Amino acid sequence: MALHFYDNDPKQAAYNHVLAHLKEKHIRITETRKAVIAYMINAHHHPSAEQIYRDLLPQYPSMSLATVYNNLKVLIDEGLVAELKLSNDNTAYFDFMGDEHLHIVCESCGKITDFVDADISPIKEEAKEQTGYEITRAQLLIYGLCPECQKREKKT
Ligand code: ZN
Ligand code: MN
Repeated sequence: MALHFYDNDPKQAAYNHVLAHLKEKHIRITETRKAVIAYMINAHHHPSAEQIYRDLLPQYPSMSLATVYNNLKVLIDEGLVAELKLSNDNTAYFDFMGDEHLHIVCESCGKITDFVDADISPIKEEAKEQTGYEITRAQLLIYGLCPECQKREKKT
């Protein structure tokens, strides 16, 4: 089985945390919900809903794309999954937010890469100061040209 967890695995801890969180909120935990949660915790590629659906279908043949969307929405509402919308791309990509990290997007091939250790709290503070908003969350996308696309551009 592809979605397997081992003991002492931080992914197992994240999975347990998500299930405990949903139980506490009295949110129903179905087999497909568990599958989507496990998939998202294991995924590092920022999948679209269609990609999640295609990957889970062999194991959950009765699951629909609508079920995947529904499960993602629950996880987004609970702050466990982030939805990434890029400019010039109508597809939404999804990401498990177990640890706070930021994203950089390649303008050429559309690849989304994680990076960590950037402190965005000064930006949140500045936003609050300038607008008077109470900050609930921050999503910052940085755009660039990935190393592979830089190489390709140099060749042509
Ligand atoms: Zn690229
Ligand atoms: Mn990410």
